[in-house]
Amino acid sequence: MSPIPPPVPSDPIREEVDRFADAHRLGERYRAYDRSPAFPVEEFQRLGEARLLGLSVPASFGGRGLSALRSARGLFQLAYRGGTMAAKLSLQPEFSSVLARAGSPDLRAGYLDPLFRGRMLVGNQVTEPHAGSDAAALRARAVYRTGAYRISGTKTQVAFAEDAQAAIVYARTERPGGRSGISAFLIPQDLAGIRRERVPDYGERWMGRGTVVYDDVELPEAYRLGEEGQGFELLRQELTHERALLGAIYLGVAWASFEETVAFVAQREAFGRPLAAQQAISFPLVEDEARLTAAWGLLERVLTRLDAGEPVDGEAAMSKWYCGHVALEAVDHAMQFHGGQGYAEELPHAQRYRDLRSARVAHGTDEVMHLVATRKRWPRPPRSSPGNG
Ligand SMILES: Cc1cc2nc3c(=O)[nH]c(=O)nc-3n(C[C@H](O)[C@H](O)[C@H](O)COP(=O)(O)OP(=O)(O)OC[C@H]3O[C@@H](n4cnc5c(N)ncnc54)[C@H](O)[C@@H]3O)c2cc1C
Repeated sequence: MSPIPPPVPSDPIREEVDRFADAHRLGERYRAYDRSPAFPVEEFQRLGEARLLGLSVPASFGGRGLSALRSARGLFQLAYRGGTMAAKLSLQPEFSSVLARAGSPDLRAGYLDPLFRGRMLVGNQVTEPHAGSDAAALRARAVYRTGAYRISGTKTQVAFAEDAQAAIVYARTERPGGRSGISAFLIPQDLAGIRRERVPDYGERWMGRGTVVYDDVELPEAYRLGEEGQGFELLRQELTHERALLGAIYLGVAWASFEETVAFVAQREAFGRPLAAQQAISFPLVEDEARLTAAWGLLERVLTRLDAGEPVDGEAAMSKWYCGHVALEAVDHAMQFHGGQGYAEELPHAQRYRDLRSARVAHGTDEVMHLVATRKRWPRPPRSSPGNG
């Protein structure tokens, strides 16, 4: 358990995560995967075996069935003990809940069980070379012809580009007499006409982001998720849920660096005194404690409302960028107050900083999160794009 009480209340799920982290030396493995860009297959499977994948996904779909609030406590603890890797692996199947909510019974029967047991990785593909934040501008096409779609287009910057066995892909549907618009599909990634390529990243290298090209790929109609034209609504619900939970991961990583820094500045001396005796050091650290604690309060408020079934799009966006912001600042302070060692890869802060930096872009950029929160405060006629994640 943490030497400085974290803002997160005690919960059996946190104790369970601690036992899991001890048994599998989670922190060490997190650091090892920073040096290898391979997807952590074993970690994913272990989390699945321990029933730590998809914490807030209903048990009827194969998830753990916890409330979003309790899931966030589990994610905080996973991130505190195992960095963004363990926590984001745990969250990954939640991104695929579009499949659980809108897939046909056959698709659900084929995919959900392996997904939540950590035996199958399902990616999410929205972003395209010319359409990121403005996902409504996406150009991938799904043209219907007698019982099947022909899919063409390019998805970029997507996680697990080469590692996912299947992906939820958003494309523009065209069918004579049918509803046009964006629709969601589950696409097995080994179909003829798919090319995949990984692109090196600054952090979270295990995520293997890259490009996936669909060149006239034939996909049976049964792989469509929901109705034609319903894709954006499915994506919006999904994004709100994940944005509401992501802050817990950011705060968990930051709390680890914060706590290690508090201990370090108490014993490290410069100019004949411990660093902590310098207000230039101690003031930013007590501010970090206040901000991380306040951010957790905001997160809990959003999650409590999400669990009550209230609409929280704007608040989830606010919580995502705010938690990311205070977390990055705390890890930056950790690097700074460890001096030269803080910048070295010997200590975990530099890796945590690189991994956490994606918070400002992935699942919706900070700027787009401000837009989503602003639209909530000063509503205007609805726009079709949910602001991509
Ligand atoms: C680690 C990581 C994982 C990712 N995983 C996935 C994935 O699995 N699947 C997937 O589909 N995508 C994924 N992405 C891509 C991510 O969703 C996009 O990068 C993001 O939505 C931004 O889109 P873009 O890169 O095209 O930037 P752009 O949309 O071109 O934006 C460029 C800059 O302009 C700003 N901007 C844009 N519009 C406005 C506006 N109206 N007002 C103010 N500022 C604006 C943005 O905030 C940003 O700073 C991932 C990204 C990262 C970093």
